[in-house]
Amino acid sequence: MAYSYDPQNIFAKILRGEIPCKSVLETEHCLAFEDIAPQAPNHVLVIPRGPYVCYDHFAAEASDAEVVDFTRTIGKICAMLGVEPGNGGGGYRLIANSGEAAVQEVPHLHVHVLAGRPLGRMLERA
Ligand code: 5GP
Repeated sequence: MAYSYDPQNIFAKILRGEIPCKSVLETEHCLAFEDIAPQAPNHVLVIPRGPYVCYDHFAAEASDAEVVDFTRTIGKICAMLGVEPGNGGGGYRLIANSGEAAVQEVPHLHVHVLAGRPLGRMLERA
């Protein structure tokens, strides 16, 4: 697998504190913060601190500790937002755009946590 990580991408700059973000949760291996252009009443981005371009890159190369922390952080965000369907919440959607077909804009792995309104079907028909 050949991924080249660009350390000048905007999320790398957020991780280094070079540009601000509205932080929601910080963990040893992850940062969660509000999307600058929210697509729903709740729109949080969860990113690993490590230099991973997209999901398959992370899945292949991250340590077990990073993978566990990332997964648990996403779950904690759902709990913080109060959107867990098993806990009386209205539900949520996770999106990890990866690469060209998915129109990934920022080349640092991020999972969008979207909630707070009806989110419609998974994809529009092309
Ligand atoms: P993508 O299309 O790569 O999956 O999504 C990138 C997301 O990053 C978009 O939803 C966009 O609004 C968000 N974004 C881009 N630049 C910034 C920024 O500087 N700060 C924050 N908080 N979000 C950003």
